Amino acid sequence: MRKLALINGKVITMDESNPRALAVFVLGDKILKVGSGAEIEVLMDDDTTVIDLEGKTLIPGFIDCHAHPMGYGQSLMAVNCATPPVASIKEMIERIGEATEGKPSGEWILGRGYDDFKLAERRHPNRWDLDDVTPRNPVMITRLCGHISAVNSLALEMAGISKNTPDPEGGRIDKDLKTGEPTGVLRGGARQALREFIPPPTFRQLRKGINLAAEKFLARGVTSVSDAGVGSPLNVRAYQAAIRDDGIPLRLNLMMSSEVLGELMSLGIETGFGDDRLRIGAIKIVFDGSSSGRTAALSEPYEDVHDSTGILYLNQEELNQRVLAAHRAGFQVGVHAIGDRAIIGVLDAFEAALKELPRGDHRLRIEHCGINSPAIVNRIKEMGVVPVPQPIFLYGEGESYRAGLGEERARWAYPMRSWMDAGITVPMSSDCPATSGEELISPLLGIYVAVTRKTDAGVELGPEQRMGVDRALKAYTLNSAYATFEEGVKGSIEPGKLADFAVLSEDPTAVPSDSIKDIAVDMTIIGGMVVYKKPR
Ligand SMILES: [Zn+2]
Repeated sequence: MRKLALINGKVITMDESNPRALAVFVLGDKILKVGSGAEIEVLMDDDTTVIDLEGKTLIPGFIDCHAHPMGYGQSLMAVNCATPPVASIKEMIERIGEATEGKPSGEWILGRGYDDFKLAERRHPNRWDLDDVTPRNPVMITRLCGHISAVNSLALEMAGISKNTPDPEGGRIDKDLKTGEPTGVLRGGARQALREFIPPPTFRQLRKGINLAAEKFLARGVTSVSDAGVGSPLNVRAYQAAIRDDGIPLRLNLMMSSEVLGELMSLGIETGFGDDRLRIGAIKIVFDGSSSGRTAALSEPYEDVHDSTGILYLNQEELNQRVLAAHRAGFQVGVHAIGDRAIIGVLDAFEAALKELPRGDHRLRIEHCGINSPAIVNRIKEMGVVPVPQPIFLYGEGESYRAGLGEERARWAYPMRSWMDAGITVPMSSDCPATSGEELISPLLGIYVAVTRKTDAGVELGPEQRMGVDRALKAYTLNSAYATFEEGVKGSIEPGKLADFAVLSEDPTAVPSDSIKDIAVDMTIIGGMVVYKKPR
């Protein structure tokens, strides 16, 4: 069996009985011993690979328990419309124009990642912007939240959307206030009409995307990722091929869309099926939109959208049924809810399901769980629910939160401190690529935001929700393993657990909090194998 010794390090273990150590010995893919240099040295022989950490910090590999590696991979292949690098609609249109050159008529042009709030024009692109450069190709540019798209006239025509088309349930077709013509901006369920016209990515494209995404995660010290929404056999096969045939080392948890619950049930599959490389996780249900896109369902209207309280994609009865069906089938359940109105609806659905079928350690999850109140925090605690937040949203979207939610509600967005003080186990995650900008998948940037509550403009958003860096590190490792029922096998550096680590250039607990985001990941190790090394 392979033997690996990691010596001369500052080891932060997340193991309460042995919080700090200097060296680790790995046998095969698991940790055998954690201790002093001398304790590890006696285990070393001629076959042992030795890595001298030279005083650097060794932590458990980061666990991103809510991201979209498949979607992220595809976005890495679509036209990059993220803000930055794109600063204006004008620039975005230029990029789309360039991507269209040489493409045969009728072929779709897909773009992703714009943030209307950060564009110079402070609005969504519309069909008229796009028509000039793409008269013969349908175009769809999806906002970074993944819930709103801007399309050109050709795409609207294909989908049969005109001034007479009513808003579908759970969606909105933006229309010009004077003429009533659709502007090309489609929200929520209104995007559904386009689906059948856009050729889905092929198996090869999906597999390539997973490989591209995996590389990005490894370079950030992430060793496990949950895909928060897998719904097709092609996706599952692409993940299998990426792991088995391409040998990507990233550990993956697939949260399955509730639409395929019937298929999973007919095969007797439950949460936990698989192995430590690829595993079936929770059933995922989407209940509302996003707060930056002003589609998250709030109790009180947005500050900057007249009379709107967001969108619920399902009515309460439908949600209750879906939650109960998955819970009954033996699955952990994770429901996407960002606005407080949506969160309350999810808690009601969880309460009803647990009343019908009580289960002790259920770890029912609320994905994002954005806008809270003291009453919501109490209910989460009482019911043993796991919120799955992304404090990183406060960084890129913080200014938009302040404008849309107002100062008071924005302070209660992702209330990490209140949750933890209440005794709730809080994981952390990126929701990548729902955040724009490549560095936003970085756990160290997420930890910096949780610790400082600073937006990318450097403004503090609810400083009373700042948390200690040790707590934030635990959230992104051990607590994230808890969120997928895997804290027994990973998330801390202790004997018997998987040998997944990140080597950091500095100790996050020993630098000023503003410097946490600048710490480099020097090395990533999965199952005792070095899978990433920072280029010198
Ligand atoms: Zn998500």
